[in-house]
Amino acid sequence: MREHAGILTDLGADVELVRRPFELSAVDGLVIPGGESSVIDKLSRAFGMQQSIREAIAAGMPMYGTCAGLILLAERITDGIAGQQTFGGLDVTVQRNAFGGQIDSFEAYLDAPALGEPPVHAVFIRAPLVQSVGPDVETLARLHDGRVVAVQQGPLLGTSFHPEVSGEQRFHRRFLDLVRTA
Ligand code: GLN
Repeated sequence: MREHAGILTDLGADVELVRRPFELSAVDGLVIPGGESSVIDKLSRAFGMQQSIREAIAAGMPMYGTCAGLILLAERITDGIAGQQTFGGLDVTVQRNAFGGQIDSFEAYLDAPALGEPPVHAVFIRAPLVQSVGPDVETLARLHDGRVVAVQQGPLLGTSFHPEVSGEQRFHRRFLDLVRTA
């Protein structure tokens, strides 16, 4: 979370940490960081955040999920643990831990036409993959073999990778643009 907060602060945003529903109602956008999606899911239900985040998504609050955060914003997941739930919002199917085994962490430079040059320096850590996207979802970045790793649907952004680790700021910039226009 510290890396996200650092980039957002550099880009001129006021950053607050959100752990409880009342803290969510005080912000105009939400970054859902990496971590372990099944744990974030369980904690969010225990602390009343699942309901609050679902309501915020329905109300159009911009959100940006990286890695586990992308999993949590997906309408559908594969290879979740038994009973794993998501907040939903992005009309995509996301596979957890899609790059298992020896390459469960790697870096790549991605073509991202929507973001322009230079290519996106992306760090993947036990990363998920976007397996399918609905008709209203824009693909923002792909691996060289064509697999989708960054998406946007309206005010919701998701990346399989961690731009905050490599200092890539364009996704956070895009997120803040969404917050300003919301
Ligand atoms: N593999 C993790 C999960 O399933 C995500 C890893 C990450 O966020 N870097 O939630």
